[in-house]
Amino acid sequence: MESFDVIVVGAGIVGLATAYHAQKSGARVLVLDKGATGYEASSRATGYLSLRGETPEECALAQVAEKLWDELDEELGYPTEWTQKGRLWAAIDDGELAELKATFQSFQATDIGFEFIDAKACRDLIPALTDKTLGGIYTPRAGHANPQRTTQAFAWAFLDRGGEIREHTPVLSVLEKGGAVHGVRTTRGDIHAGTVVLCAASHTTKLLEPLGIVFPLAPVRLEAFVTAPLPPLFEEAFIAHGLAVRQTRRGNIHVNGGPFEWIDVDVTGEPAKPTTPLVRNIAQRLVEVFPVLRKAQMLRSWAGIVDITPDTMTLIHSFDTPRGLVAASASGHGFGMAPAMGVAIADLALQGRTELPIGDLTLDRFASLPGDWRRAWNWQAGNINT
Ligand SMILES: Cc1cc2nc3c(=O)[nH]c(=O)nc-3n(C[C@H](O)[C@H](O)[C@H](O)COP(=O)(O)OP(=O)(O)OC[C@H]3O[C@@H](n4cnc5c(N)ncnc54)[C@H](O)[C@@H]3O)c2cc1C
Repeated sequence: MESFDVIVVGAGIVGLATAYHAQKSGARVLVLDKGATGYEASSRATGYLSLRGETPEECALAQVAEKLWDELDEELGYPTEWTQKGRLWAAIDDGELAELKATFQSFQATDIGFEFIDAKACRDLIPALTDKTLGGIYTPRAGHANPQRTTQAFAWAFLDRGGEIREHTPVLSVLEKGGAVHGVRTTRGDIHAGTVVLCAASHTTKLLEPLGIVFPLAPVRLEAFVTAPLPPLFEEAFIAHGLAVRQTRRGNIHVNGGPFEWIDVDVTGEPAKPTTPLVRNIAQRLVEVFPVLRKAQMLRSWAGIVDITPDTMTLIHSFDTPRGLVAASASGHGFGMAPAMGVAIADLALQGRTELPIGDLTLDRFASLPGDWRRAWNWQAGNINT
Protein backbone atom coordinates (compact mmCIF):
# COMPACT_ATOMS: atom_id res chain seq x y z
CA MET A 1 0.00 0.00 0.00
CA GLU A 2 1.18 3.54 -0.75
CA SER A 3 2.35 5.41 2.33
CA PHE A 4 2.63 9.06 3.44
CA ASP A 5 3.36 10.73 6.80
CA VAL A 6 0.20 12.82 6.62
CA ILE A 7 -2.93 12.64 4.47
CA VAL A 8 -5.01 15.81 4.31
CA VAL A 9 -8.58 15.32 3.08
CA GLY A 10 -9.80 18.46 1.29
CA ALA A 11 -7.95 20.79 -1.10
CA GLY A 12 -9.71 23.93 0.11
CA ILE A 13 -7.76 26.76 1.68
CA VAL A 14 -7.76 25.19 5.17
CA GLY A 15 -6.49 21.80 3.95
CA LEU A 16 -3.92 23.41 1.64
CA ALA A 17 -2.61 25.77 4.35
CA THR A 18 -2.29 22.76 6.68
CA ALA A 19 -0.56 20.69 4.00
CA TYR A 20 1.80 23.55 3.17
CA HIS A 21 2.99 23.94 6.76
CA ALA A 22 3.26 20.20 7.38
CA GLN A 23 5.27 19.69 4.17
CA LYS A 24 7.46 22.70 4.98
CA SER A 25 8.19 21.11 8.38
CA GLY A 26 9.60 18.05 6.64
CA ALA A 27 6.63 15.65 6.54
CA ARG A 28 5.63 13.78 3.35
CA VAL A 29 2.10 15.03 2.73
CA LEU A 30 -0.65 13.93 0.33
CA VAL A 31 -3.76 16.06 -0.22
CA LEU A 32 -6.85 14.27 -1.54
CA ASP A 33 -9.92 16.01 -2.94
CA LYS A 34 -13.16 14.63 -4.32
CA GLY A 35 -13.07 17.34 -7.01
CA ALA A 36 -10.67 20.02 -8.20
CA THR A 37 -8.31 22.10 -6.06
CA GLY A 38 -10.09 25.03 -4.41
CA TYR A 39 -13.30 24.39 -6.32
CA GLU A 40 -15.67 24.67 -3.34
CA ALA A 41 -16.10 27.40 -0.69
CA SER A 42 -12.48 28.58 -0.81
CA SER A 43 -12.62 30.00 -4.33
CA ARG A 44 -16.20 31.23 -3.90
CA ALA A 45 -15.58 33.37 -0.79
CA THR A 46 -15.75 37.15 -0.79
CA GLY A 47 -12.28 37.30 0.71
CA TYR A 48 -12.46 39.06 4.08
CA LEU A 49 -10.31 38.64 7.13
CA SER A 50 -12.60 39.46 10.06
CA LEU A 51 -10.84 39.94 13.40
CA ARG A 52 -13.77 38.12 15.08
CA GLY A 53 -14.42 40.88 17.60
CA GLU A 54 -17.89 39.43 18.14
CA THR A 55 -16.47 36.07 19.33
CA PRO A 56 -13.62 36.85 21.78
CA GLU A 57 -12.72 33.13 22.04
CA GLU A 58 -11.40 33.11 18.47
CA CYS A 59 -10.24 36.73 18.25
CA ALA A 60 -6.72 35.77 19.37
CA LEU A 61 -6.40 33.26 16.50
CA ALA A 62 -7.75 35.87 14.06
CA GLN A 63 -5.03 38.25 15.21
CA VAL A 64 -2.41 35.58 14.49
CA ALA A 65 -3.97 35.27 11.04
CA GLU A 66 -3.74 39.03 10.55
CA LYS A 67 0.03 38.96 11.16
CA LEU A 68 0.47 36.01 8.80
CA TRP A 69 -1.59 37.73 6.06
CA ASP A 70 0.90 40.59 6.12
CA GLU A 71 3.73 38.22 5.15
CA LEU A 72 1.77 35.75 3.03
CA ASP A 73 2.82 36.85 -0.47
CA GLU A 74 6.47 36.58 0.54
CA GLU A 75 5.95 33.33 2.46
CA LEU A 76 4.18 31.55 -0.41
CA GLY A 77 5.92 33.25 -3.33
CA TYR A 78 2.65 34.06 -5.11
CA PRO A 79 0.34 37.11 -4.92
CA THR A 80 -2.82 37.08 -2.79
CA GLU A 81 -3.94 40.71 -3.38
CA TRP A 82 -4.03 41.27 0.41
CA THR A 83 -5.40 44.76 1.06
CA GLN A 84 -5.53 45.99 4.66
CA LYS A 85 -7.71 49.09 4.62
CA GLY A 86 -10.04 48.10 7.47
CA ARG A 87 -13.67 47.03 7.61
CA LEU A 88 -16.78 49.19 7.86
CA TRP A 89 -19.94 47.49 9.14
CA ALA A 90 -22.73 50.02 8.53
CA ALA A 91 -26.44 50.35 9.33
CA ILE A 92 -28.91 51.88 6.90
CA ASP A 93 -32.13 51.48 8.93
CA ASP A 94 -33.13 51.65 12.60
CA GLY A 95 -33.27 47.85 13.05
CA GLU A 96 -29.75 47.45 11.68
CA LEU A 97 -28.52 50.30 13.89
CA ALA A 98 -29.91 48.63 17.04
CA GLU A 99 -28.26 45.35 15.99
CA LEU A 100 -24.96 47.11 15.31
CA LYS A 101 -24.97 48.77 18.73
CA ALA A 102 -25.46 45.36 20.38
CA THR A 103 -22.57 43.97 18.28
CA PHE A 104 -20.43 46.93 19.33
CA GLN A 105 -21.02 45.98 22.98
CA SER A 106 -19.85 42.40 22.31
CA PHE A 107 -16.67 43.78 20.67
CA GLN A 108 -15.73 45.38 24.02
CA ALA A 109 -14.55 41.97 25.29
CA THR A 110 -11.67 41.97 22.78
CA ASP A 111 -8.51 44.02 22.42
CA ILE A 112 -8.79 44.73 18.68
CA GLY A 113 -8.99 48.37 17.64
CA PHE A 114 -12.51 49.42 16.54
CA GLU A 115 -14.76 52.44 16.92
CA PHE A 116 -18.40 53.37 16.45
CA ILE A 117 -18.54 56.12 13.81
CA ASP A 118 -21.47 58.36 12.83
CA ALA A 119 -23.14 58.68 9.44
CA LYS A 120 -20.87 61.50 8.28
CA ALA A 121 -17.71 59.57 9.19
CA CYS A 122 -19.06 56.53 7.30
CA ARG A 123 -19.66 58.62 4.19
CA ASP A 124 -16.29 60.36 4.53
CA LEU A 125 -14.75 56.87 4.45
CA ILE A 126 -16.92 55.64 1.53
CA PRO A 127 -18.53 58.58 -0.29
CA ALA A 128 -20.55 56.25 -2.56
CA LEU A 129 -22.65 55.09 0.43
CA THR A 130 -26.37 55.91 0.53
CA ASP A 131 -27.36 59.08 2.39
CA LYS A 132 -29.62 56.80 4.50
CA THR A 133 -26.50 55.50 6.31
CA LEU A 134 -26.95 55.90 10.08
CA GLY A 135 -23.54 54.88 11.47
CA GLY A 136 -21.14 51.96 11.59
CA ILE A 137 -18.41 50.02 13.35
CA TYR A 138 -15.00 50.67 11.81
CA THR A 139 -12.21 48.12 12.42
CA PRO A 140 -8.98 49.53 10.92
CA ARG A 141 -6.96 46.28 10.93
CA ALA A 142 -9.35 44.04 8.97
CA GLY A 143 -8.59 43.36 5.31
CA HIS A 144 -9.42 41.35 2.22
CA ALA A 145 -7.70 39.35 -0.51
CA ASN A 146 -8.46 37.42 -3.70
CA PRO A 147 -9.85 33.98 -2.76
CA GLN A 148 -8.94 32.21 -6.02
CA ARG A 149 -5.40 33.55 -6.09
CA THR A 150 -4.80 32.87 -2.39
CA THR A 151 -6.10 29.31 -2.47
CA GLN A 152 -4.01 28.62 -5.57
CA ALA A 153 -0.99 30.30 -3.92
CA PHE A 154 -1.18 27.79 -1.04
CA ALA A 155 -1.55 24.92 -3.54
CA TRP A 156 1.45 26.02 -5.61
CA ALA A 157 3.62 26.72 -2.55
CA PHE A 158 2.78 23.22 -1.24
CA LEU A 159 3.61 21.61 -4.61
CA ASP A 160 6.83 23.68 -4.85
CA ARG A 161 7.97 22.08 -1.58
CA GLY A 162 7.39 18.58 -2.94
CA GLY A 163 3.82 17.95 -1.78
CA GLU A 164 1.29 15.99 -3.83
CA ILE A 165 -2.37 16.80 -4.58
CA ARG A 166 -4.66 14.11 -5.99
CA GLU A 167 -7.87 15.53 -7.41
CA HIS A 168 -11.10 13.62 -8.20
CA THR A 169 -10.28 11.12 -5.48
CA PRO A 170 -13.11 11.07 -2.91
CA VAL A 171 -12.22 9.68 0.49
CA LEU A 172 -14.86 7.14 1.54
CA SER A 173 -13.66 6.43 5.09
CA VAL A 174 -10.86 6.83 7.60
CA LEU A 175 -9.07 3.54 8.34
CA GLU A 176 -8.70 2.80 12.05
CA LYS A 177 -7.38 -0.18 14.01
CA GLY A 178 -6.46 -0.67 17.65
CA GLY A 179 -7.20 2.93 18.63
CA ALA A 180 -5.07 4.55 15.89
CA VAL A 181 -5.73 5.68 12.32
CA HIS A 182 -3.63 4.09 9.59
CA GLY A 183 -4.88 5.74 6.40
CA VAL A 184 -7.93 6.35 4.25
CA ARG A 185 -10.09 4.37 1.83
CA THR A 186 -10.65 6.20 -1.47
CA THR A 187 -12.56 5.37 -4.64
CA ARG A 188 -9.12 4.44 -6.06
CA GLY A 189 -7.99 2.20 -3.22
CA ASP A 190 -6.49 2.46 0.27
CA ILE A 191 -3.59 4.81 1.11
CA HIS A 192 -1.56 4.50 4.31
CA ALA A 193 -0.62 7.34 6.69
CA GLY A 194 -0.04 7.49 10.43
CA THR A 195 -1.81 10.86 10.55
CA VAL A 196 -5.05 11.83 8.82
CA VAL A 197 -6.31 15.43 8.82
CA LEU A 198 -9.92 16.09 7.82
CA CYS A 199 -10.49 19.53 6.25
CA ALA A 200 -13.42 18.40 4.13
CA ALA A 201 -15.88 21.12 5.25
CA SER A 202 -19.33 19.63 5.99
CA HIS A 203 -18.19 16.22 4.74
CA THR A 204 -15.92 15.95 7.78
CA THR A 205 -19.03 15.22 9.86
CA LYS A 206 -19.91 12.30 7.56
CA LEU A 207 -16.37 10.89 7.57
CA LEU A 208 -16.27 10.90 11.39
CA GLU A 209 -19.70 9.29 11.94
CA PRO A 210 -18.48 5.69 11.36
CA LEU A 211 -15.83 6.27 14.07
CA GLY A 212 -18.60 7.18 16.52
CA ILE A 213 -17.49 10.84 16.61
CA VAL A 214 -20.04 13.65 16.52
CA PHE A 215 -18.48 16.62 14.73
CA PRO A 216 -21.36 19.10 14.69
CA LEU A 217 -21.53 21.04 11.43
CA ALA A 218 -24.54 22.37 9.52
CA PRO A 219 -24.05 23.10 5.80
CA VAL A 220 -25.52 26.36 4.51
CA ARG A 221 -25.74 27.79 1.02
CA LEU A 222 -24.56 31.36 0.21
CA GLU A 223 -24.97 33.34 -3.02
CA ALA A 224 -22.52 35.78 -4.60
CA PHE A 225 -21.87 37.79 -7.76
CA VAL A 226 -19.42 40.26 -9.30
CA THR A 227 -20.10 43.28 -11.46
CA ALA A 228 -18.05 44.34 -14.45
CA PRO A 229 -15.05 46.52 -13.43
CA LEU A 230 -15.86 50.04 -12.22
CA PRO A 231 -13.68 53.01 -11.27
CA PRO A 232 -12.31 52.80 -7.69
CA LEU A 233 -15.09 53.38 -5.11
CA PHE A 234 -13.66 52.01 -1.84
CA GLU A 235 -10.87 49.78 -0.55
CA GLU A 236 -12.39 48.72 2.79
CA ALA A 237 -14.15 45.44 3.44
CA PHE A 238 -17.79 46.51 3.78
CA ILE A 239 -20.82 44.95 5.48
CA ALA A 240 -24.40 46.29 5.52
CA HIS A 241 -27.98 45.26 4.78
CA GLY A 242 -27.14 41.53 5.00
CA LEU A 243 -24.37 41.90 2.39
CA ALA A 244 -20.57 41.57 2.41
CA VAL A 245 -19.00 43.70 -0.32
CA ARG A 246 -15.48 44.48 -1.56
CA GLN A 247 -14.04 46.04 -4.69
CA THR A 248 -11.40 43.89 -6.34
CA ARG A 249 -8.06 45.20 -7.66
CA ARG A 250 -9.59 45.14 -11.16
CA GLY A 251 -12.56 47.22 -10.03
CA ASN A 252 -15.26 44.52 -9.87
CA ILE A 253 -17.76 44.92 -7.04
CA HIS A 254 -17.84 41.49 -5.35
CA VAL A 255 -20.83 40.81 -3.10
CA ASN A 256 -22.36 37.94 -1.16
CA GLY A 257 -25.47 37.86 0.95
CA GLY A 258 -28.32 36.00 2.55
CA PRO A 259 -30.86 34.88 3.45
CA PHE A 260 -29.03 31.57 3.76
CA GLU A 261 -30.58 28.18 3.11
CA TRP A 262 -29.62 25.24 5.36
CA ILE A 263 -28.99 22.10 3.32
CA ASP A 264 -27.59 18.56 3.55
CA VAL A 265 -24.52 17.33 1.63
CA ASP A 266 -23.31 14.02 0.31
CA VAL A 267 -20.00 13.06 -1.27
CA THR A 268 -21.29 12.74 -4.84
CA GLY A 269 -23.70 15.71 -4.81
CA GLU A 270 -23.38 18.56 -7.32
CA PRO A 271 -21.80 21.82 -6.04
CA ALA A 272 -24.31 24.58 -5.24
CA LYS A 273 -25.71 26.81 -8.01
CA PRO A 274 -27.17 30.30 -7.59
CA THR A 275 -30.92 30.94 -7.69
CA THR A 276 -32.04 33.88 -9.84
CA PRO A 277 -34.58 35.37 -7.35
CA LEU A 278 -32.01 35.47 -4.54
CA VAL A 279 -29.30 36.97 -6.76
CA ARG A 280 -31.83 39.63 -7.86
CA ASN A 281 -32.69 40.30 -4.23
CA ILE A 282 -28.98 40.73 -3.36
CA ALA A 283 -28.51 43.06 -6.35
CA GLN A 284 -31.47 45.17 -5.25
CA ARG A 285 -30.10 45.52 -1.71
CA LEU A 286 -26.66 46.37 -3.11
CA VAL A 287 -28.18 49.30 -5.03
CA GLU A 288 -30.03 50.43 -1.87
CA VAL A 289 -26.65 50.67 -0.12
CA PHE A 290 -24.71 52.03 -3.13
CA PRO A 291 -27.18 53.93 -5.38
CA VAL A 292 -24.27 54.68 -7.73
CA LEU A 293 -24.30 50.97 -8.73
CA ARG A 294 -27.83 50.99 -10.20
CA LYS A 295 -26.48 50.74 -13.76
CA ALA A 296 -23.62 48.33 -12.97
CA GLN A 297 -23.47 45.18 -15.13
CA MET A 298 -23.55 41.82 -13.36
CA LEU A 299 -20.71 39.72 -14.79
CA ARG A 300 -21.32 36.32 -13.18
CA SER A 301 -23.01 34.80 -10.13
CA TRP A 302 -22.40 31.63 -8.14
CA ALA A 303 -23.30 29.85 -4.93
CA GLY A 304 -21.17 28.09 -2.36
CA ILE A 305 -21.62 25.92 0.72
CA VAL A 306 -20.09 26.64 4.09
CA ASP A 307 -20.00 24.51 7.23
CA ILE A 308 -21.29 26.18 10.40
CA THR A 309 -20.66 25.01 13.98
CA PRO A 310 -23.42 25.41 16.62
CA ASP A 311 -21.72 28.49 18.15
CA THR A 312 -20.40 29.72 14.74
CA MET A 313 -16.78 29.58 15.96
CA THR A 314 -13.83 27.77 14.39
CA LEU A 315 -13.46 24.13 15.44
CA ILE A 316 -10.04 22.41 15.54
CA HIS A 317 -9.59 19.10 17.34
CA SER A 318 -6.81 16.56 17.73
CA PHE A 319 -8.25 13.21 18.89
CA ASP A 320 -6.73 10.97 21.56
CA THR A 321 -8.85 8.12 20.25
CA PRO A 322 -8.22 7.24 17.55
CA ARG A 323 -4.64 8.53 17.68
CA GLY A 324 -3.33 10.33 14.60
CA LEU A 325 -6.62 12.01 13.72
CA VAL A 326 -7.15 15.79 13.46
CA ALA A 327 -10.28 17.51 12.13
CA ALA A 328 -11.20 21.15 11.54
CA SER A 329 -14.00 23.42 10.44
CA ALA A 330 -13.73 27.15 9.77
CA SER A 331 -17.45 27.76 10.45
CA GLY A 332 -18.00 30.10 7.52
CA HIS A 333 -15.04 32.45 8.00
CA GLY A 334 -12.21 30.17 7.00
CA PHE A 335 -10.81 32.26 4.22
CA GLY A 336 -9.48 34.89 6.60
CA MET A 337 -8.56 32.41 9.32
CA ALA A 338 -6.84 29.83 7.09
CA PRO A 339 -3.26 31.14 7.40
CA ALA A 340 -3.43 30.68 11.19
CA MET A 341 -5.56 27.52 11.08
CA GLY A 342 -3.00 25.90 8.77
CA VAL A 343 -0.17 26.49 11.25
CA ALA A 344 -2.21 25.24 14.22
CA ILE A 345 -3.53 22.13 12.45
CA ALA A 346 -0.09 21.21 11.06
CA ASP A 347 1.37 21.58 14.59
CA LEU A 348 -1.30 19.22 15.95
CA ALA A 349 -0.75 16.75 13.13
CA LEU A 350 3.03 16.62 13.56
CA GLN A 351 3.61 17.35 17.25
CA GLY A 352 0.23 16.74 18.91
CA ARG A 353 0.18 20.29 20.31
CA THR A 354 0.36 23.93 19.23
CA GLU A 355 1.39 27.24 20.76
CA LEU A 356 -1.41 28.98 18.87
CA PRO A 357 -4.49 30.08 20.89
CA ILE A 358 -6.98 27.33 20.06
CA GLY A 359 -7.78 26.20 23.64
CA ASP A 360 -11.40 27.42 23.41
CA LEU A 361 -11.88 26.12 19.88
CA THR A 362 -11.79 22.33 20.39
CA LEU A 363 -14.63 19.81 20.26
CA ASP A 364 -14.71 19.71 24.08
CA ARG A 365 -17.01 22.74 24.13
CA PHE A 366 -19.78 20.68 22.53
CA ALA A 367 -19.65 17.82 25.06
CA SER A 368 -23.24 18.45 26.20
CA LEU A 369 -24.68 19.40 22.81
CA PRO A 370 -28.09 17.76 22.29
CA GLY A 371 -28.14 15.07 19.59
CA ASP A 372 -30.92 16.92 17.74
CA TRP A 373 -29.14 20.30 17.86
CA ARG A 374 -29.88 21.16 14.22
CA ARG A 375 -33.61 20.74 14.85
CA ALA A 376 -33.40 22.63 18.15
CA TRP A 377 -31.56 25.53 16.42
CA ASN A 378 -33.94 25.37 13.42
CA TRP A 379 -30.90 24.78 11.19
CA GLN A 380 -32.34 21.79 9.33
CA ALA A 381 -32.22 21.40 5.55
CA GLY A 382 -34.83 23.55 3.83
CA ASN A 383 -34.98 26.19 6.56
CA ILE A 384 -33.91 29.75 5.85
CA ASN A 385 -31.68 31.80 8.14
CA THR A 386 -32.04 35.53 7.66
C1 LIG B 1 -20.16 33.05 -1.00
C2 LIG B 1 -19.19 32.86 0.12
C3 LIG B 1 -18.56 33.96 0.70
C4 LIG B 1 -17.64 33.78 1.75
N1 LIG B 1 -16.95 34.86 2.22
C5 LIG B 1 -15.98 34.69 3.16
C6 LIG B 1 -15.19 35.80 3.59
O1 LIG B 1 -15.33 36.91 3.13
N2 LIG B 1 -14.25 35.56 4.56
C7 LIG B 1 -14.04 34.32 5.10
O2 LIG B 1 -13.19 34.18 5.98
N3 LIG B 1 -14.75 33.25 4.67
C8 LIG B 1 -15.71 33.41 3.73
N4 LIG B 1 -16.44 32.34 3.29
C9 LIG B 1 -16.21 31.05 3.94
C10 LIG B 1 -14.94 30.41 3.44
O3 LIG B 1 -15.00 30.32 2.04
C11 LIG B 1 -14.82 29.02 4.05
O4 LIG B 1 -14.94 29.08 5.46
C12 LIG B 1 -13.46 28.40 3.69
O5 LIG B 1 -13.23 28.46 2.31
C13 LIG B 1 -13.42 26.98 4.19
O6 LIG B 1 -12.29 26.35 3.65
P1 LIG B 1 -12.18 24.78 3.70
O7 LIG B 1 -10.89 24.43 3.10
O8 LIG B 1 -12.48 24.34 5.09
O9 LIG B 1 -13.44 24.28 2.84
P2 LIG B 1 -13.66 24.10 1.26
O10 LIG B 1 -13.06 25.18 0.48
O11 LIG B 1 -15.12 23.85 1.08
O12 LIG B 1 -12.83 22.80 0.94
C14 LIG B 1 -13.21 21.53 1.39
C15 LIG B 1 -12.73 20.56 0.34
O13 LIG B 1 -12.96 19.23 0.81
C16 LIG B 1 -13.28 18.45 -0.31
N5 LIG B 1 -13.95 17.22 0.15
C17 LIG B 1 -15.15 17.13 0.78
N6 LIG B 1 -15.44 15.84 1.03
C18 LIG B 1 -14.41 15.11 0.55
C19 LIG B 1 -14.13 13.72 0.53
N7 LIG B 1 -14.98 12.82 1.03
N8 LIG B 1 -12.97 13.31 -0.05
C20 LIG B 1 -12.10 14.22 -0.57
N9 LIG B 1 -12.33 15.55 -0.56
C21 LIG B 1 -13.46 15.98 0.00
C22 LIG B 1 -14.15 19.35 -1.16
O14 LIG B 1 -14.20 18.92 -2.51
C23 LIG B 1 -13.47 20.70 -0.97
O15 LIG B 1 -12.56 20.98 -2.02
C24 LIG B 1 -17.36 32.49 2.24
C25 LIG B 1 -17.97 31.38 1.65
C26 LIG B 1 -18.86 31.55 0.60
C27 LIG B 1 -19.48 30.34 -0.05
